[in-house]
This record gives sequence, C-alpha cells and structure tokens, in this order.
Amino acid sequence: MTTQEPARPGLPAAEQSSPAHSGRPAAERLSPVSRTAVAVARVRAYESAQPDPLFTDPYALAFVTAAGHPPRPGGAPLGPFAQRLLLHGILRTRHYDDRLLAVGARQVVLLAAGLDTRAHRLPWPDGTRLFELDLPPVLAFKDRILAERGARPQCERITLPADLTDPGWPELLRSAGFDPGQPAAWLVEGLLVYLDADQAAQLLTTVGELSAPGSRLLVEKGRDTSRTPVEEGLTEMTALWRGGLGPGTADWLDTHGWTTRFTALDELAATHGRLLPPGVAGGEPSGFLEAVRS
Ligand code: SAM
Repeated sequence: MTTQEPARPGLPAAEQSSPAHSGRPAAERLSPVSRTAVAVARVRAYESAQPDPLFTDPYALAFVTAAGHPPRPGGAPLGPFAQRLLLHGILRTRHYDDRLLAVGARQVVLLAAGLDTRAHRLPWPDGTRLFELDLPPVLAFKDRILAERGARPQCERITLPADLTDPGWPELLRSAGFDPGQPAAWLVEGLLVYLDADQAAQLLTTVGELSAPGSRLLVEKGRDTSRTPVEEGLTEMTALWRGGLGPGTADWLDTHGWTTRFTALDELAATHGRLLPPGVAGGEPSGFLEAVRS
C-alpha cells in the first residue's frame, strides 16, 4: 500500500491535519459528511453478520466500533425509508463489487472511497492498481484500523487524500501513476448527493477528461432530494444532501461523452432474493448507472 501526502490546496480547515487535532482519536476528527462513511460501514457490518450475506466485509465492524457508533443500524425498529436505504446500501455494495470485477480494468479509481475495503476483499486480476481518494481524516482513520488488523490489499492500493471539489486532485492522481491513456473503472459511490449540481457536474467533467475510450463509470442514478422523507435517525445524514445532478444524472452523462445503462434496485433485489420495502409514494425507481466512455 502506498499513501501519498500531497499538498492540499483548498482543503476545508476542518479537514487539515493540525496540532489542535493531534491528541484526538482520528474518528472524532471526521467532519459530518465524512461520518457518513461510518454509516455505510455499519450497513456492511450488518450484512456481513447475516446468515447468507451478499458480501462479507471483515473490517466494517472494526471501523464502526472504533468510530464509537452502535454496531447495528437501528436499535429501534427502522422506518420504511431507513429500511429501503439499508437494502439500497447492501445491494449497492454487491452490485458494484460484481460490476468492478466484471469490467476487469487494471486501473480502478474509487472517488470518495470512505471505508470501502474492496481493495482488500475482492479477488482483483493481477496487475490491478486501485486508487482511493477521500478527505484526509477518513483515509487516516481507515488506514489506522486496517494496519491494526494487519489487513493486506489484494491489488496495488494507492491512497490519495484529497478534496474532490478542489481542482488539484487530477494532478495528484496522475502523479501517483494513473494513466489517462488507458481505460479505467471509476466508482463514485455515495458521493454525488453530498455535492451541489455544479460540483457534481465539474467532478464528472473531470472524470470524463481522464477517461480513455472504453472506461467505465459506476454511479447511483440520483434522487430528487426535495422529496426526501423525514425519519428519525436519518436526519443527520439527509440534512447534508445537496442533490448532485439528481434524477438527471443519466441524461447529463449521455450528453457528455458517455453511454449509460440503468439497473433498478428492484431488479437487483429480485436477483438476490431480497424483499424490498415499499417505495416512497410517487418516487422514481432508484438504482445504479453504468456508463461507458465513447
Ligand atoms: N464510497 C464510500 C462507501 O460507499 O463506503 C463512502 C460513501 S460516504 C456516504 C461519502 C464519502 O464522501 C465520505 O467518505 C466523505 O468523506 C466523502 N466526501 C464527501 N465530500 C468529499 C469531498 N469534497 N472530497 C472528498 N471526499 C468527499
């Protein structure tokens, strides 16, 4: 594993390492948006503990525990939206696992990698280089827990602390060995909803510029966040949603050099024999996009 500590122009003050932070445990330094990575790890820990899991993440529980969160989502009964989000997180993890391996690119980039441990738990083909980008405190926390457990990646793993709304990240990626002349698989999982439309469009424009023909991009379909139901236990997270490109994500990609395919959450639930809780009334079907660079 390689961790590069770049110059980080434009990082928000809360994300910079500073002497004031040095005595505090890494998890406490996570900003609210970065704590959402712990929420996703909690979903993965939950599924990993089920009798017939769709995936097993052997590190998810360690992240959740070290961050001081309760180990299982929802001590109290979950509302319908929380149930749907839980299954969405489970099916999303399995779907992206399957698709990343099926794509078979030797360059894989996880934008906003959070506490994703695919580098460690998936059987990557020989020669795979996997780049993880996220805000510095998240990667520092993650690497500490992985090191404590002696975790070994199944590919060449390169972690790049960066703010993805800062224009400096592509140069960081290139200097770390990413080759824009070769096809890549990009995963943008659980990020765009935390960006506004301009930030999301800028990020995807940059991804397009770095993508050789045949590159793939995996991303959520996008949701209309103005219709987000208010449910106890979820507001800390949903209050951070800024919408990204919303339900227009596929159209945006199709008019910016990509050809997209949609996989509905309901279809994945049926494939894996999972019962999906009822959708939000009037809501569009949620799911996942896979885009191929033309
Ligand atoms: N993709 C991971 C997963 O599914 O487990 C993490 C998803 S989590 C919901 C959102 C992640 O986005 C957090 O790890 C957070 O730190 C990261 N993030 C949010 N804004 C970011 C930014 N401007 N630059 C880099 N990472 C960012």
